[in-house]
Amino acid sequence: MANVKSSARRDGGDWIINGQKMWISNGIQADWMCMLANTSEENGPHRNKSLFIVPLNAPGVTRHKLEKMALNSSDTAQIFFDDVRVPGHHLIGEEGRGFIYQMEQFQEERLYVVARSLGILKDALDTTIEYTRDRSAFGRAIIDNQFVAFRIAEMQTEVEALRAMLHAATEKYVAGEDVTTLASMAKYKMGRLCEWVPGECLRFWGGQGIMQENRISRHYRDMKVGAIGGGSNEVMLQIIAKKLKLSS
Ligand SMILES: Cc1cc2nc3c(=O)[nH]c(=O)nc-3n(C[C@H](O)[C@H](O)[C@H](O)COP(=O)(O)OP(=O)(O)OC[C@H]3O[C@@H](n4cnc5c(N)ncnc54)[C@H](O)[C@@H]3O)c2cc1C
Repeated sequence: MANVKSSARRDGGDWIINGQKMWISNGIQADWMCMLANTSEENGPHRNKSLFIVPLNAPGVTRHKLEKMALNSSDTAQIFFDDVRVPGHHLIGEEGRGFIYQMEQFQEERLYVVARSLGILKDALDTTIEYTRDRSAFGRAIIDNQFVAFRIAEMQTEVEALRAMLHAATEKYVAGEDVTTLASMAKYKMGRLCEWVPGECLRFWGGQGIMQENRISRHYRDMKVGAIGGGSNEVMLQIIAKKLKLSS
């Protein structure tokens, strides 16, 4: 984030924005976006950025829809800004504090993506339990194989541990504490579970798991982004290691 290249410069009472943004969720259908841009070439990367509200129908805005392998109920856009003029009052908060505001917002975003993913992980497990109870092979239900039942029990345990972590972090956040470490840990754990749980569940569906019509194949594709969006697993580990003073 410190390397953001988009810029905004003052022009009378307005701001003129130039640059581009990649991976913008719902960017095609959105009426406006919240955008971080450099407002100074001095002060270093943490104090030279500001947040703006940018109407996406403004002259100079061009949107391009990205084609994804997953999450097709939400569009994702690349957006270009060529001399986009926004009024002065579209600046959010104080000029130069955009980086700090954004870092604060990340705590909430991480908690939100964990909460959202818990629902999908639960659905992957619930539908898999239902299917493996119903489907019989070699004279018994799939779930009556101890390996399958144990693996599902293990995944349920991991998901409940993640839920407990989310609740602990949310309680502290609501109490006004800085939860960067705990929220990053929860986001990391969620990323790992999103890579593991849907794939394990899909396997227990056999050939049916590969079918487009079965929800588990959609979860498998959609949850891949859990380890990437909102900060990748590796970036979460970087933050945790720094916060725990394991690295600088
Ligand atoms: C569907 C979707 C929607 C999104 N929506 C939005 C949005 O609305 N707004 C927004 O701002 N962004 C959005 N993003 C962007 C998202 O936050 C980034 O994709 C994510 O942070 C990873 O950044 P990157 O894609 O530039 O990957 P890169 O930075 O190119 O990293 C690629 C991979 O390299 C590895 N890596 C990177 N850095 C390190 C490191 N320091 N140490 C070790 N390994 C490393 C990681 O495995 C990482 O996943 C969205 C992304 C997707 C896919």
